[in-house]
Amino acid sequence: MNTYKLLTPGPLTTTDTVKEEMLVDRCTWDDDYKAVTQKIRRQLLQLGHVSEDDYTAVLMQGSGTFGVESVLSSVVGDEDKVLICSNGAYGVRMTRICDRNRIPYVHYAESYDHIPDPARVARLLAQDPAITHVAMVHSETTSGILNDIQSVGKVVRDAGRTFIVDAMSSFGGVDIPVSDWGIDFLVSSANKCIQGVPGFSFILCRRDKLLSSEGKARSLSLDLLDQWKGMEKDGKWRFTSPTHVVLAFSKALDELEAEGGIPARHRRYAENNRLLIEKMRAMGFAPYIDGSRQGPIITTFFYPAGVPFQFSEFYTYIKERGYVLYPGKLTDADTFRVGNIGEIYPEDIEKLASIIAGFLAAHKEEIA
Ligand SMILES: *Cc1c(COP(=O)(O)O)cnc(C)c1O
Repeated sequence: MNTYKLLTPGPLTTTDTVKEEMLVDRCTWDDDYKAVTQKIRRQLLQLGHVSEDDYTAVLMQGSGTFGVESVLSSVVGDEDKVLICSNGAYGVRMTRICDRNRIPYVHYAESYDHIPDPARVARLLAQDPAITHVAMVHSETTSGILNDIQSVGKVVRDAGRTFIVDAMSSFGGVDIPVSDWGIDFLVSSANKCIQGVPGFSFILCRRDKLLSSEGKARSLSLDLLDQWKGMEKDGKWRFTSPTHVVLAFSKALDELEAEGGIPARHRRYAENNRLLIEKMRAMGFAPYIDGSRQGPIITTFFYPAGVPFQFSEFYTYIKERGYVLYPGKLTDADTFRVGNIGEIYPEDIEKLASIIAGFLAAHKEEIA
């Protein structure tokens, strides 16, 4: 069994009961298995507060990026243009997807410690009528900042454009009323806040917008509409599906419900995060993101000031005592990250804090 817990934003620490689901081999065209896929699709719509009349859920093999690439390459046509609002590596990755697929786009790049400004998005849309779609990340896992997709969604809807959201590291841990917030396509994956294991992504799609994307897809395996057509019939995936992962995910969804749904999971994550920042601050680690914009998923901390600090040494010390951290992803500052999602509770944060206190104490003795 596990020798350490993951304080990373996915893959993350899952329950033993989720992992146990993977001990059984299943057949991809068996009715029981296909029924599991259909149940998952219905549960995902419920989590997004949307009805089957207006929305539909598509599961897509591969990691989260496959889901984002599937949407961008399937719904933004050659005659369309997508405005990508970025403030981190995952937003920037969307521009790379567009480059590779020759998808027309414009890029509004915000600095990593600021959120994309809804008023700026409104101006960009007013200035350029050729823009048909807007894409942005909700929880930018690069820094831990939580973007205001509700305000941007309103701007996009008022301007009559289509809104694509990468809610990879927030869906299931932060409540997102998908339709109310004007989201037409929302992408997330199995191994983040739903607390499943890696292997597929999923997309909540506004039905009419999905259906009107006919003929736009640039890839066979990532063709969103084609994948949906197969799945909608009877729950059969077009190509081999990650059967073990699907069963584990189904269990994880049931466990989310048993915990009390998204509100309860959000409370646990938010408390983990609040406690983490309080404890870390007390030990001299300042967070990179301003408190009001800090999301409840992952936190970026600066290396402590005035002490020689090596992340690899820090990492190993903590790993040997039961927890794994994440390196920073910023290019302009020395930082590391601590995720607080998955099967992680305030007791874990307390333990982590005492391990870090031990590291600092040992380190100070060495220097002295
Ligand atoms: C995890 C994540 C992704 C997907 O990354 P993969 O490595 O492909 O799973 C995309 N966007 C965000 C914001 C993420 O946190």
